[in-house]
Amino acid sequence: MRRTFAEEPDRWAEARERMVRDQIAARGVRDPRVLEAMRIIPRHVFVPPDKQMWAYEDRPLSIGHGQTISQPYIVARMTELLGLQGDEKVLEVGTGSGYQAAILGYLAPEVHTVERVPELAQQAAARLAALGLPHVQVHVADGTLGWPPAAPYDAILVAAAAPQVPKPLLEQLAVGGRLVLPVGDRYQQFLERWTRLGPDDFRHERFEPVAFVPLVGKAGWPEA
Ligand code: SAH
Repeated sequence: MRRTFAEEPDRWAEARERMVRDQIAARGVRDPRVLEAMRIIPRHVFVPPDKQMWAYEDRPLSIGHGQTISQPYIVARMTELLGLQGDEKVLEVGTGSGYQAAILGYLAPEVHTVERVPELAQQAAARLAALGLPHVQVHVADGTLGWPPAAPYDAILVAAAAPQVPKPLLEQLAVGGRLVLPVGDRYQQFLERWTRLGPDDFRHERFEPVAFVPLVGKAGWPEA
């Protein structure tokens, strides 16, 4: 799978190099595997055709249905906070374009990603399949409830803003596992990492401020 990407450098490869150097490494992301994933996965494939020219710029982009693909740095930063070694089962909540899921799929052998908007899930699944990432599975569901059929997870990433940490996600974390998510109000949140040290023992860390679209669901924000 790695080989397919590496052997077919596309005309955007240079833009990706610059993105990694100037936006991601320059801001302190050091994990070499995360930097490699960001260099290899083609972000332009995950944005609407009329926005491709901005695919490697330092900002989120609108992907329709009122949703966005996150800023590249934030994708890299959250991925780094998960501390993936290469043998994990990973859950993502909020598939959106599928870009973050592809990055996770480059780094881990089993990824489940849950999206509540069926059209976004369909498009993301098609892109992930076309890129040769069949071990990244897209599910349509309320991700605030996690994805019980494949639990527990070694790592969980939530790509939408939660009012508080959804309890089902803590419950679906393996011992030793990490949950990374933005927690706060509708306009600003902080990145948090919850590490399950034992069955009833969690360590909680807080990082930089971020701004995500709301996580809407049973253990998130009510439907607008
Ligand atoms: N990770 C995405 C960006 C996600 S934007 C990417 O790389 O492009 C946040 C996404 O979370 C949106 O697509 C939104 O529809 C979805 N979302 C919001 N609440 C959700 C929920 N409860 N379950 C699943 N998906 C949800």
